Amino acid sequence: MSAKLIKGAEVAAQIRDELKKEVDELKAKHNITPGLVTILVGEDPGSVSYVTAKQKTAHELGFYSVQDNQPPTIAEAELLGLIEKYNKDPKIHGILVQLPLPKTIDTNKVLYAIDPNKDVDAFHPVNVGRILIGQYAFLPCTPAGCQELIVRSFGDPKGKEVVVVGRSNIVGKPMVAIMLQKLPGANATVTCVHTGTPKDRMIEHCRRADILIVAAGVPKYVQADWVKEGACVIDVGVNRIGISEKTGKAILAGDVDFDAVKEKAAFITPVPGGVGPMTITMLMKNTVMAAKLAAGLIKI
Ligand code: NAP
Repeated sequence: MSAKLIKGAEVAAQIRDELKKEVDELKAKHNITPGLVTILVGEDPGSVSYVTAKQKTAHELGFYSVQDNQPPTIAEAELLGLIEKYNKDPKIHGILVQLPLPKTIDTNKVLYAIDPNKDVDAFHPVNVGRILIGQYAFLPCTPAGCQELIVRSFGDPKGKEVVVVGRSNIVGKPMVAIMLQKLPGANATVTCVHTGTPKDRMIEHCRRADILIVAAGVPKYVQADWVKEGACVIDVGVNRIGISEKTGKAILAGDVDFDAVKEKAAFITPVPGGVGPMTITMLMKNTVMAAKLAAGLIKI
């Protein structure tokens, strides 16, 4: 059996179409235009390309969008002042600070200064807590993207065995919290394995998984004999394993031994092209939710 590929770009495009309709309706019925500011400190090429892509998508969806570029020498106090300005700006519903920040700046201090209702990355401890107790308006982008991929390919995870490999604050832990929610699109039995899990036990847990979500940062880690026949495998990993002689570009691999695992799974995300394309779209979804929250159209 060869697995059906879950194509992130196609799912993301579908969600953006849905969002565009929602944005048009928010404008027409409620006179609300979702507003997003992306703050870039310095000129790291990777960060520049990320914020450019985020702004482009925001523009295509008809958002009010602001790109705020700051020099790498900006003082922490000045950056905090800028966050405060956007916290108070009623036209801005989502504030995104592109990471990494220069070493002279305390990243957590900056992220925690963002109004939790405008924290569209959902990294603020208030949002982390809200998600855990099931009272939230938006979810961290990467695990939220994984949930969309699962629901729109495999189907509702309700009652299924979900195993998450990895427990980072940005992927593994929120993924566990999302899949645990007593809500449609979740309500699963969730296990999380990590470096504290003995390897033989980890393999046993993975073999039980109807849905296996891997975010370990170890190239081609999950082997075919760890995967249940017919499982849905979501590979979050993005690892550079070399440089292509032909193109000079990085060769990427996920955390799953794709070629072997695809013969066992029923659904699988490729790397690249699986989870990656979802992240920016989920950021846009969060900004729409933040705009609705600010307008009182939804409540936490
Ligand atoms: P991270 O912060 O390094 O966390 C990795 C997690 O995996 C940790 O909890 C670690 O356990 C666990 N782990 C590491 N080696 C393991 C092993 N051999 N067996 C079991 N567990 C192991 O990484 P992350 O930020 O979660 O990212 C994970 C991967 O996803 C990376 O490849 C990253 O590039 C990728 N990523 C992709 C996207 C995207 O949009 N596609 C977004 C974010 C991340 P301990 O806690 O015990 O150390």
